[in-house]
Amino acid sequence: MKDITRLTSATLGREHSRRAVNVGVERGSTVLMESAEVLYDDDIKPTYGTDGLSTQNELCRLIAELEGAEQSFILPTGLAALTVPMFAVLNAGDEILVVNSCYAPVRRFVETQLKRYGVAARYYDPRLSPDEVIALASPQTKLIYVESPGSLTFDIQDIPGIARAARAKGILTLCDNTYGAGVLFKPLEHGCDMSMQALTKYVGGHSDILIGSVSVTDKALAKKIYATQKAWGFFTSADESYLAIRGIRSLHLRLKQSGESALKIARWLEGRPEVAHVVHPGLESHRGHDVFARDFSGSNGLFMVIFKGGDETKSQEFLNRLTLFGLGFSWGGFESLAVYCEPQIKSRVKLSNDDDWLLSGSAIRFYVGLEDADDLIGDIENALTTFG
Ligand SMILES: *Cc1c(COP(=O)(O)O)cnc(C)c1O
Repeated sequence: MKDITRLTSATLGREHSRRAVNVGVERGSTVLMESAEVLYDDDIKPTYGTDGLSTQNELCRLIAELEGAEQSFILPTGLAALTVPMFAVLNAGDEILVVNSCYAPVRRFVETQLKRYGVAARYYDPRLSPDEVIALASPQTKLIYVESPGSLTFDIQDIPGIARAARAKGILTLCDNTYGAGVLFKPLEHGCDMSMQALTKYVGGHSDILIGSVSVTDKALAKKIYATQKAWGFFTSADESYLAIRGIRSLHLRLKQSGESALKIARWLEGRPEVAHVVHPGLESHRGHDVFARDFSGSNGLFMVIFKGGDETKSQEFLNRLTLFGLGFSWGGFESLAVYCEPQIKSRVKLSNDDDWLLSGSAIRFYVGLEDADDLIGDIENALTTFG
């Protein structure tokens, strides 16, 4: 069965008749036990709200279906779904390799928290081959954080290659799969040990929740993640979990529409004289397109454009002229958004001079939602007078 069928039909069996189609929102801290003898029985779950009640469990089950996982965990934000697995597998004296095109708060967590706990970090260029990445590993390297396409710059990594090479050396891999939303890419099938998602984005789909997931195939790894989650107290409400379940039902359709519209707008922008580069991995002109086309079943609604001759002031002027694109961070919702990227590009570690072109003009990231693509093109066209 295809993903979309498994995710929408799982509770429609005849044994579920005379019940609502959907799982209920089961709120609770206390869970009543049937007798005093079982109060401290570790084999009985749940004994408290932090074990996860029916709503959280249903979301875990659906995410595990989507990611092809043995087990998935739900966390209060996408960021917590990155920090908890890192804490679960790293110890003082260990080292983590982090792709330089990482989601910016990963760098903040590594610099301000992991280092305090005695974990060293090294950043690597996303264009390194798997062998070159592994060559950077030391005996202390325990984890590689991969993200493809990378946040903002859309750099593509050979994730299957890196996962294979890392596993051969006994190094774990954690993949940020927010771009693929579990649909366009399957990190666990490609050999990654852990796949996380900000469900805040496409799974939630309506810009009204913060929630994350991490998924694994290995039971011992699942135990470590659960122990860390429990020790730190990172749990998620039934209401947020319910909204994520609701989002999943239409995930494939929204993602498809958003991706198609984004590609149409990106192609239109490629033909405009004001544009220096359209950075979109689904375009043949993208430097990582071949690997992207090999590993991903499609592209989502995100891309970046470098407009000729612009600077940060011009970027702001352009953004202020847009009327259909909201000015705001995040993506994956029903509404289109745009931000300028120069401050985030400059915050990256300097590894080589190859990327100077990223700052050669105004750098705008677009997220294309569910509005009509031609209306969005009209909105961008009006604002292009900034660069004219
Ligand atoms: C948004 C995002 C996250 C974090 O999600 P939050 O729910 O906002 O904490 C992680 N990774 C990527 C790639 C993201 O875009």
